[in-house]
Formats: sequence, structure tokens, C-alpha cells
Amino acid sequence: MTLRIAAALAAVLAAATPAAAQTYPAKPITMIVPFAAGGPTDIIARIVGEHMGRTLGQQIVIENVAGAGGTTGTTRTAQAAPDGYTIMMGHMGTHGAAPALYPKLKYDPTKDFEPIGMAAGTPILIVAKKGLAPKDLKEFVAFAKQGGDKLNLAHAGIGSVSHATALLFNASIGTKPTSVPYKGTGPAMNDLVSGQVDYMCDQIVNVVEQVKAGSIKAYAIATPDRSPALPDVPTTKEAGLPDYQVSAWNAMFAPKGTSPEIVAKLSDALNKALADPNTAKRLTDLGGVLPEPANRNPAWLKGYVAQEVARWTPVIKAAGETAE
Ligand code: ASP
Repeated sequence: MTLRIAAALAAVLAAATPAAAQTYPAKPITMIVPFAAGGPTDIIARIVGEHMGRTLGQQIVIENVAGAGGTTGTTRTAQAAPDGYTIMMGHMGTHGAAPALYPKLKYDPTKDFEPIGMAAGTPILIVAKKGLAPKDLKEFVAFAKQGGDKLNLAHAGIGSVSHATALLFNASIGTKPTSVPYKGTGPAMNDLVSGQVDYMCDQIVNVVEQVKAGSIKAYAIATPDRSPALPDVPTTKEAGLPDYQVSAWNAMFAPKGTSPEIVAKLSDALNKALADPNTAKRLTDLGGVLPEPANRNPAWLKGYVAQEVARWTPVIKAAGETAE
């Protein structure tokens, strides 16, 4: 291509791109984390957000907007101006399980967002306070069956990952604990470490350091294989509960109507973050699973969200749970 043709082509492309998208981002971008600081969604958002900010030449500022199992911050994102300056880190709860639990939810995960991309897969672990008597999953199941209502289950609010995955777990072992909601599993983990609550089902990135430090115990990981980040923790299959298989994920979304050019810039920055060895290592050291390269685009995430809503709706209806 001659230089003249290349220049002409660039001019045509520039003319087709709205002015705001050409100069985007011209100021810091807010990434809403719909849970408290220190939990898995917050950790993943900060790790990828830091690298994305460098690619975009503008800082990504994390704003924790916690409440109602993540649906408060997600609603705020859906209603924000679609100018690329408000985006969010959602997950399997906010964009999968929540609609079935909140009949009056003010957003539709499949319609009110422009998907940006998957950030990380997050296997679920069943973890307990250090001093809880059962030493393995089989003992825990027997213990829970005898006095399940006396056990305290921590979670991040109705519709969160820790709530939905614990619903499944409790149903599969036939126990009904007292539920203790938090604004995220960051604060829930603090109380698990100090022994104020008994157990929780949480995303791996929140539990690896505590398990390694011996400040909590992990009964099992609910995936077909063990995690390289916690090689000593058995799978649910190995631990005697093969049917409990569940993994979660965190992904980034912009409000519906955000221009395709801006979404492409954000998606490209997310991909560069995931391709960066240091950023990738920070995620995988915590047990995060990097998405397959073919699954790192907005179109794939759009299809996946629809599948997740379809997957969780009957499960939650069957459990007879609702937030309202
Ligand atoms: N892991 C949490 C959940 O259960 C939320 C958080 O990231 O704090 O949904």
C-alpha cells in the first residue's frame, strides 16, 4: 500500500469513528466493583485494571459499590452514561444467578450491557474456619447433617457467587445453615479467619493465601482437577461429593450503548493485560484460570452470559429461593 493510499484510508476510518471515541480515554475510567474491597472481584479488578490503565494511558479507578449481592453496583453500571468512563467487573452472580433470585431486578444481564471480556475463571472451594471439628469433607457432611442449623454460612449476599454456589452445596448435602450475609467475601473471609462464622463456598482467588497460611481450612475444590495454586486440596470427586461441580468467573462490562470503538479499546486493553506475563502470573498464583484466547472477545462473553442465566435460572427456582 502506498503512503498516500494508507493516509487516505486512515482519514476515512477516522471520519467513521465518533470524535469522543477517537480521543477516548481522555480522563480516568471508573471500574465499579459491586462488592467490598479485598474480595475476589476486587482483587481481579485491581490486577487487570492496573495493566489496562497503562495500555489506555489513563488510570482505572476502582469504586466499590457493594450491596444486595452485587446487584446495587451492577444496577448503577447499567444506568451510567454509556461513554466508556464507567465500566464494571461483574461475575457469575451479577450476570448469571441474580436474575432468578431478584424478580424485580432493575437490569437484564443479557440486554443492558456491552460485554468487554472475560477476566478470569474462578473455581469454587468449600472452606471452613480453622477450628471447625470435621477434618475432611466426609466428616463435614456428616457433621452438617446432624446440626446443620447451628452452622453459620458466610456469603456475599443473595445472588452472589458464594450464595448461589452454597445453595447448591447445601442442597446436595441436605443441610440448612444460618446464613450470614456480608458486603463481599473479603469481609466474610476476615470473619472466617477469626472464627466468627463456620464455612463458606468461595472463589479461589480469595482463599489461596489463607489456606497456604493455615488460617482457614479447605475441604475441597469443586472442579474436575486440582488447582496448581493449591495442589494439596482434593477435588470434590476425590473427597466423596462428585456431583458438586461448580466454577465461577469474573468479566468486564460497559453500559448498553457504549460505542463499539470504545468497547474495542477496552477489550484490547484487557487482552493485553491477560497476555502480560506478570499480570497473568498474579492471577494464576491466586488460582485464577486465564480464559482461552478464543474466549477473550466481547461476542463470546455475550453468548456466555446468556448461557449462564439459562443455566442458573432452573437451579435456583428448584431450590425455591428468592430475595423478595
Ligand atoms: N466472591 C464474592 C461472591 O460471593 C464477591 C466478592 O468478590 O467479594 O459473589
